[in-house]
Amino acid sequence: MNEDDERWMRRAIEIARSKGSDPSTSPLGSVIVLDGREIAGERNQTQELPDATAHAEMMAIRRACEDTGELELRGATLYSTLQPCGMCTMASIWSKVGRVVYGAGREDVHPMYFEARHVDTLSFIADAYRDDIVIEGGCLREECAGLYYPPDADLPRDEQANL
Ligand SMILES: [Zn+2]
Repeated sequence: MNEDDERWMRRAIEIARSKGSDPSTSPLGSVIVLDGREIAGERNQTQELPDATAHAEMMAIRRACEDTGELELRGATLYSTLQPCGMCTMASIWSKVGRVVYGAGREDVHPMYFEARHVDTLSFIADAYRDDIVIEGGCLREECAGLYYPPDADLPRDEQANL
C-alpha cells in the first residue's frame, strides 16, 4: 500500500459519495487503474437500473472492458471502498486484474453489506487458479468505514439489504 493507493482510494470515496451519503443505499465506489490512469470509476447502481448485479466493482469492470476493448485487464488495480462481495471477487478473478485493494473490511461494517455469514472472499483469491492476483485491505479504512453502517448498528429488517 502506498501514496498512490490512497490517492485512488480517495477517488473511489468521492465516487461513492456522488449520490449522497445515506448508508442504506450501500454507497460503494470502485476505480480501476491501469498504467497510472483511471480507466473506470463507478458507483453501485442496483437501485437505479434496477439490476441486482450492478455493484460498483461489476460496473467498473464492465466499463473498463468496454473502454479498452479488452476482455482481460491484466496489470490493472481495482480499488473498492468496501471488501468486494463474492460476486465481485469472482468477477475480479475472471477479468484478470492483477490487484484488488479495498478500504473497509467485513469486520469494519454492518453484516448487511455481505451475502454470507462465514464465507470470506479473501479465500476465493487465495484459492484461485491464478497466481498473479493479490488482494489487500485497509486502505483508508476509517474513512471508508464511515460510508457505511457500523458493525453494531441496530437496523430494522427492511433496511438490511442482504435479508
Ligand atoms: Zn459486489
